[in-house]
Amino acid sequence: MNAKPRGRQFFNNPGPTNIPDRVLRSMDRPVIDFMSEEFVAIHHACHNGVKRVLKTDQNLFMYSSTGHGAWEAALANLFSPGETVLMVETGYFSESWTEMAHHLDIKVELIPADQRKGADISKIAERLAADKEHKIKAVLTVHNETATGMVLPLDQVRRAIDEAKHPALLLSDTISSLASMEYKMDAWGIDLTVGGSQKGLMLPTGMSMTGVSNKALEVSRKSKTPRHYWSWEMMTGRAPQKFVGTAPVHMFFGLQESLKMLEEEGLDAVFARHARLAEATRAAVRVWGSDGKGPQLFCQNEDRLSNSVTAVVMPDGVSSDPLRKTALDRYNLSLGGGLGKMMGKMFRIGHMGDLNEPMLLGCLATTELAMKTAGVPFVSGGVEAAIKSLSA
Ligand code: PLP
Repeated sequence: MNAKPRGRQFFNNPGPTNIPDRVLRSMDRPVIDFMSEEFVAIHHACHNGVKRVLKTDQNLFMYSSTGHGAWEAALANLFSPGETVLMVETGYFSESWTEMAHHLDIKVELIPADQRKGADISKIAERLAADKEHKIKAVLTVHNETATGMVLPLDQVRRAIDEAKHPALLLSDTISSLASMEYKMDAWGIDLTVGGSQKGLMLPTGMSMTGVSNKALEVSRKSKTPRHYWSWEMMTGRAPQKFVGTAPVHMFFGLQESLKMLEEEGLDAVFARHARLAEATRAAVRVWGSDGKGPQLFCQNEDRLSNSVTAVVMPDGVSSDPLRKTALDRYNLSLGGGLGKMMGKMFRIGHMGDLNEPMLLGCLATTELAMKTAGVPFVSGGVEAAIKSLSA
């Protein structure tokens, strides 16, 4: 039998993320009745807490599901079969949301983009301005493309919609930016936000949510897509818990604790911590690839670098699989892989959620060690650059 590596695993996947002991302990308690006053109070507190994180005063629905469920809830509640939406290409997750829309018979027009440079926002404005009959019902975006480590500036997308004087809704997936990077649902004029539990909220996978603007809620009353579990109308009718079925009380115990942790630290401080850790990660990667032969940052747009995940593209002809396997099997470090067509061609360092400087430096140093062991060409000195960045 193979012995398991000793010590704590360093977990640097871009979701799920490390679940803090405080959150785990908060869930280690007996079940309570989800109809009880005690649970209703916890639910109410969590509902308001998530709205504070999303920065919205409008509506929120939470589901017992992964983020895919919240994606489907958004599509099923807002659009009827045959309607058209505009998807801004970002990468694997804009492609997956597109595939889901197709399965629901929603037509998707794409704003194509170079996935290493990011979408040209003026193309969105142009397309909407040409849509005189307002056939396009919504612009769908992924705020933080986890597959590429790139952010989309949503305030600029909002401006493009407004400048085109188009009534399209603005939908945004904030699954990998939620509670790690600034997000202002109401101020940015987002009509629907999709979030999930297993990244910045530091919870187990299995809870998702949608923040819904009053305008989007109004639009949902006209959607002809059949729905039951995801139906906002059904959920509203199940007040106060607003769950179709049994509410997952343990997820709420955990959520209550994670919201407490985020508010104790302060959201701005949380974002600043992620910015610091992300910059240090990038400093290391820039050194690794500084001779042009080692791994490089996938994102080539300095203004759109993600603060929750760094995607690192391998040198031509070098697979990321042996590196990730060595990191995991030999050194107990879990790194993310490439998704879709980038499988085997990149690795991703998740630095979202419950993470600090020693954890990140451990990850970066061990990545260097694993690159050395696996024979990946790189320039050494990445960790030193990260330390310099963190101490600046
Ligand atoms: N959208 C983004 C940006 C993601 O990163 C992910 C998962 O990593 C998803 C959607 C899908 O979420 P889930 O795996 O919870 O269904």
